[in-house]
Amino acid sequence: MTKMYQFLVQRSRPFLSQRFFSQFSWASSSLSPPLTNNMSTTSGLVIPCKAAVAWEAGKPLVIEKVEVAPPQAMEVRIKVKYTSLCHTDLYFWEAKGQTPLFPRIFGHEAAGIVESVGEGVTDLHVGDHVLPVFTGECGECAHCKSEESNMCDLLRIDTERGVMHSDGKSRFSINGTPINHFVGTSTFSEYTVIHSGCLAKLNPLAPMDKVCVLSCGISTGLGATLNVAKPKKGSTVAVFGLGAVGLAAAEGARIAGASRIIGIDLNPNRFEEAKKFGITDFVNPQDYDRPVQQVIAEMTNGGVDRSIECTGNINAMISAFECVHDGWGVAVLVGVPTKDAVFMTKPINLLNERTLKGTFFGNYKPRTDLPSVVDMYMNKKLELDKFITHRVPFSEINKAFDLMLRGEGLRCIISMED
Ligand code: NAD
Ligand code: ZN
Ligand code: ZN
Repeated sequence: MTKMYQFLVQRSRPFLSQRFFSQFSWASSSLSPPLTNNMSTTSGLVIPCKAAVAWEAGKPLVIEKVEVAPPQAMEVRIKVKYTSLCHTDLYFWEAKGQTPLFPRIFGHEAAGIVESVGEGVTDLHVGDHVLPVFTGECGECAHCKSEESNMCDLLRIDTERGVMHSDGKSRFSINGTPINHFVGTSTFSEYTVIHSGCLAKLNPLAPMDKVCVLSCGISTGLGATLNVAKPKKGSTVAVFGLGAVGLAAAEGARIAGASRIIGIDLNPNRFEEAKKFGITDFVNPQDYDRPVQQVIAEMTNGGVDRSIECTGNINAMISAFECVHDGWGVAVLVGVPTKDAVFMTKPINLLNERTLKGTFFGNYKPRTDLPSVVDMYMNKKLELDKFITHRVPFSEINKAFDLMLRGEGLRCIISMED
């Protein structure tokens, strides 16, 4: 086991309190703004700003002038600096097989700066750098108190919610018409309001235009491998879907010391890019006339030790499970399926001692664990640059959607200030 892997697997999870950030030297340093002055000039006021509004499923976003209300109890208003597009935004924007909820402001992978805080927020301050996360950590519930779970009762991901928890209202409006939030983050806006439990405090030295990708995709894939699949050194790992999430899962396998990483994707253009991520073998299911799980079993003398599914496609999920070795194989589902998808496999596949798991956000507790993932990047244990293939100004946000629809590139960073 590498030292870093050991650290991640055995990481301790202090409960929510001042202890949260105490392990990080920057947390109490002079880089944080003064704690006594937790006010900004816009504090308590409605902020008019630009946001990319999705009015209808699958139609280009429109940059509109929206009004962003001040944060209420336990909420924080942030100025978004950089955001990026994750496939989960795209699924809910397309709304094919997902409940449509429009008009809506999407976006959940981002980095920003605290503009003002609502009543009761004591651990975040004006000027703090933060990463919003689509699933939160209240610190009080059974899940937050469990070492094993990140499925907070209050703040776990809810893709069908378009309003804030405290009063069931939206903080966004256009001429009085409310606009729905998305997964509690809505980062495709210059300003957004987020529950404080969904914000991880960020080392202010970390470059926001890079670490923004840690707020969803990269942490999700990395954690799916390191925290959930937990491959042993020298093991064989299959990764289904070679987008940013899958390649982050591959990065996790590399860090864990896997000897063979098999990448599976339907898009052959993915393979060239994926070579930078330590993938040793590539399989395109379309090149075979038999199920891909059979192809993988043949390549690996009976199956892989671990597999991580990062596609959202139900058939890939079933293949990812059925390609693990009996006796010890573990498959982890990460992709977000359509609402009606049903997972079907023969129960004998489980009786034969295969394990099937699933995870949101790589099992990381967003507030407790994310700062240590940022530190992995700061300490050069984790590379982020290779995930960032495109950059566009906010005014061209629809280009990021076009790239993802065409299966081009990994992450496209959208700069709010250009
Ligand atoms: P992406 O579009 O960049 O990559 C997905 C890849 O999967 C593509 O390269 C595509 O060609 C490939 N693919 C699709 N169907 C396939 C199939 N049947 N077999 C093999 N490959 C197939 O998307 P991403 O941003 O990397 O996200 C990947 C998935 O993870 C999405 O479903 C997203 O919604 C989900 N996600 C889940 C979480 C979580 O917490 N569980 C967090 C973030 C993203
Ligand atoms: Zn995401
Ligand atoms: Zn909780």
